[in-house]
Amino acid sequence: MNATTRRATKPAALLGDDWRTRAGCTRNEAELFFPIGGSKTARSQTKKAKQICAGCPVRTECLEWALENRQDEGVLGGLTEDERRALHRRRRRFAFQRKACQHILTNRLEEFLELRARGLELLEIATELGTNVQTVNNVIEQLDARQEVDAA
Ligand code: SF4
Repeated sequence: MNATTRRATKPAALLGDDWRTRAGCTRNEAELFFPIGGSKTARSQTKKAKQICAGCPVRTECLEWALENRQDEGVLGGLTEDERRALHRRRRRFAFQRKACQHILTNRLEEFLELRARGLELLEIATELGTNVQTVNNVIEQLDARQEVDAA
C-alpha cells in the first residue's frame, strides 16, 4: 500500500476484526491519522487524531493490532509510529529481562546467592553472570517477594 492509498483509507478500516466497527475514527478523518512530515499542520493533525483515539472504546485493541502487525505509519491506538516503535522496544527489553531473570532463578541461583554473600556490587554480580544490573535487580526483587510469601 502506498502513502496515497493509506491516506485515503480510514484507519479503522485497516483493522480487520469486529472491534473495528466500534472505532472512534471515521473515513472523513483519514488525513488526521496519516499526517505527512513534521510541519505545524502535520503536528496539529497528529494532536487531533490522538484526541479522537483518547476517547475511542477500542483503543487497546487497535494499539495491540498495530503493534502485532508492525504498522509503521500513522496514528493508531493513540500513538504515533515513533511512539509505537519505542513501546515495542520497551516491551522487547522487558521480555528479555524477564527471561534472563527466570534463567538465573532456575539455573544459576546458587551462584547468584554466593556472589551476593560475597558482598559484590550489583554491577559486579551482573558482570560475573554475564547479564545487566536491571536483571540482577529483578532477581533480587523476585527473591524478596518469595521471602515475603514464605514469611506470611
Ligand atoms: S484507537 Fe484511534 S486509530 Fe484506533 S480505532 Fe480508535 S480512533 Fe481509530
